[in-house]
Amino acid sequence: MSTETNNLRGPTSALNPPDDSAFMRAALKEAISAYEKGEVPVGAVVVHEGRIIGRGHNLRETLNDPTAHAEMLAMTAASEARGQWRLDECTLYVTLEPCPMCAGAIVNGRVKRVVYGASDPKAGACGTLFNLVQDARLNHRAELEAGVLGEEAGELLKSFFRECREGTIARRGGKDPE
Ligand SMILES: [Zn+2]
Repeated sequence: MSTETNNLRGPTSALNPPDDSAFMRAALKEAISAYEKGEVPVGAVVVHEGRIIGRGHNLRETLNDPTAHAEMLAMTAASEARGQWRLDECTLYVTLEPCPMCAGAIVNGRVKRVVYGASDPKAGACGTLFNLVQDARLNHRAELEAGVLGEEAGELLKSFFRECREGTIARRGGKDPE
């Protein structure tokens, strides 16, 4: 199924439609909200017909919940807004490459398209360690776009971990490596 994995574009792609950057900006704003709470800064929005219908940022420490990733919260909000769990006409924008849990939820929610910013060499499940959202063995595949405002998303994460090390900000939940 090589045709399905080939549409993963690199960070230098000049083909990002302008809307992608605009919605990624909204996801970055969510990530900053997480940052301000001492949470690892990851943000997400779900877009349906050009409109944001769900937002979320990482709240794992605040909610004491291992599933409280930005994507999960944004997808739950979007499903509520749509009145259905199927998000097959929606695009998920997230600042960091989704982990296996979130990639699983993307498949289960039949999300049409996923756009992410920075790649995650430690947990990325949309092309880096795994590509769960385009695995032909599963019952759904999403279109994938990588590297949209990836540098900004990555800088935000780097700056957060730097500040944690320097003790400038109090990271909630201690300092287990991400
Ligand atoms: Zn996740």
